[in-house]
Amino acid sequence: MGYDVIIIGSGAGGGTLAKRLAPSGKKILILERGDFLKREPENWNVRSVFVENRYISQDTWYDGSGKPFQPQVHYFVGGATKMYGAALYRLRKEDFEELSHHDGTSPVWPISYEEMEPYYSQAEEMYQVHGQRGIDPTEPFCSAPYPFPAVSHEPRMQRLFDDWTKAGYHPFPAPCGIMLNEKDMGFSRCVRCNTCDGFPCLVQAKADAEMIGVRPALEFPNVTLLRGVRVQKLLTNPAGTAVTEVVTEKGTFRGDVVVVSCGAANSARLLLQSANGCHPGGLANGSDQVGRNYMYHNSQAVLAFSIEPNLTRFQKTIALNDFYFGMEGFEYPMGNIQMIGKTMGAMFKGEKPLLTALVPTAVLNRIAHHAVDFWLSTEDLPRPENRVTVDPEGRVTLSYTPNNQVPARKLYEKLKSMLGSLGMHPNYLIPRRAYLKTEIPLAGVAHQAGTCRFGNDPKSSVLDTNCKAHELDNLYVVDTSFFPSIGAVNPSLTAMANALRVGDHLLQRLK
Ligand SMILES: Cc1cc2nc3c(=O)[nH]c(=O)nc-3n(C[C@H](O)[C@H](O)[C@H](O)COP(=O)(O)OP(=O)(O)OC[C@H]3O[C@@H](n4cnc5c(N)ncnc54)[C@H](O)[C@@H]3O)c2cc1C
Ligand code: SF4
Repeated sequence: MGYDVIIIGSGAGGGTLAKRLAPSGKKILILERGDFLKREPENWNVRSVFVENRYISQDTWYDGSGKPFQPQVHYFVGGATKMYGAALYRLRKEDFEELSHHDGTSPVWPISYEEMEPYYSQAEEMYQVHGQRGIDPTEPFCSAPYPFPAVSHEPRMQRLFDDWTKAGYHPFPAPCGIMLNEKDMGFSRCVRCNTCDGFPCLVQAKADAEMIGVRPALEFPNVTLLRGVRVQKLLTNPAGTAVTEVVTEKGTFRGDVVVVSCGAANSARLLLQSANGCHPGGLANGSDQVGRNYMYHNSQAVLAFSIEPNLTRFQKTIALNDFYFGMEGFEYPMGNIQMIGKTMGAMFKGEKPLLTALVPTAVLNRIAHHAVDFWLSTEDLPRPENRVTVDPEGRVTLSYTPNNQVPARKLYEKLKSMLGSLGMHPNYLIPRRAYLKTEIPLAGVAHQAGTCRFGNDPKSSVLDTNCKAHELDNLYVVDTSFFPSIGAVNPSLTAMANALRVGDHLLQRLK
């Protein structure tokens, strides 16, 4: 069967692109290895989601030393956005430029912030982002206001906001992609629950790639979605200049244009698995860059203890970028501080199973009653040796050596030093996961990016500035693989904006 465009993967990149192309009338096929994520009571059940890992794939990947692990990937229509916290940030203008970090240089992007800016505004409109401009001192130029007002703070968060402000810092309302109407909660689709970040939304009120991208695209008769279809390989013409067939477990498909958007690790895997005589090192891999430069942020999920109880339900309303580019006495970028979903007692059972095995949930609930949860992101730098590889049996290895750890530690220490003045116990800022260190382990691939970076030079990049493979005429990649660097804010909005940008290019091309 022939299509004008085949999109492989329906997450932030693929789902957004499908929506952009749908009104064109072109014949579009979306191939998604997962199914619709079922609406069921377990969506909001802490035990099912955090302890039993109900929505995490059964994949086994291996680290650089050959040790197996279960990556936290989510194979559903909508991809990882079904589980995401919907914190939809723009990269800073400086993230598009060369930036000096403690451990080296974060490279310049081949397009400027100004080129991406209109698409950021469109993506914010599309994904119904709630926020407020003009407060974050690192905010780049924005051509449009947020389409919706910022999500209000609950009392304990308002106090944190006020305390930070009193201390001379510049907290700002975190940008959130949720369908919340605080003026009329009787009509609001979002009920402002405490099971958002890391959970699917039972009432379909999260602005995820299924609800905002795929479902609206499917209203057009020219768009077809095939679920439960995993793409195994891409075949090319004899000259190796174009993809001719998309091979799946359930048949082979032909498309004039083929767009890969399987998530950074799986997109690299697909290209590497598609090696042939013309592309012996993997499809589009003459530069030997496919799979390299894997990044996933130096992220830390930590909790502090509020002296007064923290009764917040929806906690993800505040962020702080005062240390994004460093601070007095430390001139290198440190990153972003934001809130994450509120801890609940039962979560500890999944996050710290050994420590909490014999502790009754009621006791854990009392601890959680005072917990205030922060997410700290520091940029990790692209390194060629941090990479995805695939062996002949299809085994995926993710080799990763951390870098830029000093600024991550500084950010942690800075936050800890402030706790006393924020109404929290000054001595405790503890990791939320069952590891000795605060960093998220390799299995936490939520922010994966960078394995097929775009650039002007085919020798050092996989994709051109339109995210088309340098070496093939009809192959594109639109997930977070294209990032040459990851900045220190959550990646989805950039993937969405870029998919809209690439969509405009494809609309021109398909004309
Ligand atoms: C718990 C959690 C919280 C997060 N919170 C935030 C947040 O608050 N803000 C933010 O910006 N980001 C957040 N993220 C990250 C965000 O979800 C990802 O950055 C984003 O979804 C990446 O988009 P993508 O298109 O690259 O990949 P994905 O969204 O993962 O989409 C890839 C799709 O490809 C499909 N696929 C894979 N292989 C194949 C194949 N061979 N054949 C067919 N289909 C295939 C997958 O099933 C999937 O649907 C979070 C992620 C998680 C897991
Ligand atoms: S806070 Fe709103 S969007 Fe998030 S899971 Fe709850 S109802 Fe859904």
